[in-house]
Amino acid sequence: MSAATSLTHLLLGTNMGNRCGYLQFAQEMIQQNIGTICRYSPVYETSPWGYTQQADFLNQALVVQTHCSPEQLLTLLQEIETKAGRQRLMHWGPRTLDIDIIAIENKVICSERLQVPHPALAQRRFVLQPLAEIAPEWQHPLSRLTYRQMLASCRDNTIVKKYDCPLIFDCKRI
Ligand code: ADP
Ligand code: MG
Repeated sequence: MSAATSLTHLLLGTNMGNRCGYLQFAQEMIQQNIGTICRYSPVYETSPWGYTQQADFLNQALVVQTHCSPEQLLTLLQEIETKAGRQRLMHWGPRTLDIDIIAIENKVICSERLQVPHPALAQRRFVLQPLAEIAPEWQHPLSRLTYRQMLASCRDNTIVKKYDCPLIFDCKRI
């Protein structure tokens, strides 16, 4: 932990079991172990990407204020995925919970374990759509494009539609 805080953009994804329950679980664990959830996007349902013979995903983006370093953040997020029963059987395969770090302020990180901003973010509508709702003017530190601009020029035709989750995060409750 350090004294400074960073605003981090996370993307939650789930396509197994009680998908809304896993989103709720992730939000509670993040709030307890990582920092304050400042903003959260609507939940979107999206067709699978990469390996397409699997169930549809729910995705949701969060803006989280945290004291964690980027490496600590990744470790803590992976612990939350494991607690949610995540098994790493296949790259891009079905998962109870995936939490990706999309951006951390305007940091650029390129280590073996962690790449930030997420290298594929500009190609994926299911990343850009929720983030353009909650942080439209954030600027990619390398391309200088905002989420709004990247979404406008994104060629990914995957269907990304709003989904009504009965369990929905309520900041006031925590
Ligand atoms: P994916 O999210 O690509 O389907 P995983 O969740 O299994 O796959 O992550 C694979 C690896 O990606 C992790 O072990 C982690 O070290 C690495 N990784 C690199 N950059 C990031 C990032 N920005 N967010 C999350 N994981 C990342
Ligand atoms: Mg991941």
